[in-house]
Amino acid sequence: RADTALRRAKSDGGNKKVLFEAAMDDAVRERYSIEADLRRGIAAKELRLYVQPQFDSTRKVCGYETLVRWQHPERGIVPPAVFIRVAEESDLIVEIGRWILSEACRFIVRLSLSGRCVPVSVNVSPREFHQRDFVERVKNTLAESGADPQQLVLEVTEGLVISDFDAVIRKMEALASIGVHFSIDDFGTGYSSLAYLKRLPISELKIDKTFVQDAPQDANDGAIVESILAIARHMKLRVVAEGVETEEQAAFLDARAAVIHQGYLFARPAPVEAFWGLEIEPSEG
Ligand code: C2E
Ligand code: CA
Ligand code: CA
Repeated sequence: RADTALRRAKSDGGNKKVLFEAAMDDAVRERYSIEADLRRGIAAKELRLYVQPQFDSTRKVCGYETLVRWQHPERGIVPPAVFIRVAEESDLIVEIGRWILSEACRFIVRLSLSGRCVPVSVNVSPREFHQRDFVERVKNTLAESGADPQQLVLEVTEGLVISDFDAVIRKMEALASIGVHFSIDDFGTGYSSLAYLKRLPISELKIDKTFVQDAPQDANDGAIVESILAIARHMKLRVVAEGVETEEQAAFLDARAAVIHQGYLFARPAPVEAFWGLEIEPSEG
């Protein structure tokens, strides 16, 4: 119990007193049970690749984001919100990342065989990126699948660059030099400095859905979106707005820049099999 309280104190930022409460025990037990179940699920091949298309200002598909789902035998489709954080606290995130990356590369190959050479984005957790062999692994996966590195976009968050900036930039440059693109996900929600960001080989910013969704009504969120667009313009970066759900949100963005839209208004994430007309499962919502 002391250990549980200590761990909570550390995860809340450290340098503080935390008293043990029964609810913490429940949370720990819940985490371990998800972790054990996930470990089993990965081995039993229960992970599923979902893809969500992105649309340019003429409403043409100009890319896809890959999103992982867990097809649980009893619980049905489990969204990443339930298990990604647990996975990130163990090495399971590395296994998930490996699987998603190789599936994403297969998707890229199938897209280009059907004449659609659009970029495919993959979310990369900091823990995965910090693995010693991350660069090698991405290169090998690309080579083994035959996917064009130019079509691969790795989405990283601002939090990645908080520690060990030099190592991060070295890895990013190694991958950028073979054509891989980088995107900063949830841009504006972290604490990264623009001075650092401008040294990174990035080609895209993603505006978090909280800003996108409130921009038309909330002057502060509107101003944040406009600032992000201004930064992107100066740094010559692509901008993807995630979570576009209404015409009003789309119009707000379209009035300001040639933003790429990703959101329920245009398309929900769907299983990759549905995309190819195989084994159709219902899409979300
Ligand atoms: P994210 O990278 O910010 O992904 C965008 C999330 O917004 C996705 O949730 C997507 O389904 C959802 N979304 C898209 N359009 C709309 C919309 O119009 N309205 C609303 N309300 N939501 C929309 P999802 O798939 O549940 O993923 C949640 C998070 O889990 C992701 O956030 C990402 O951080 C993480 N994640 C998902 N797949 C992976 C993965 O393969 N690897 C890693 N490391 N993380 C992943
Ligand atoms: Ca993302
Ligand atoms: Ca987001």
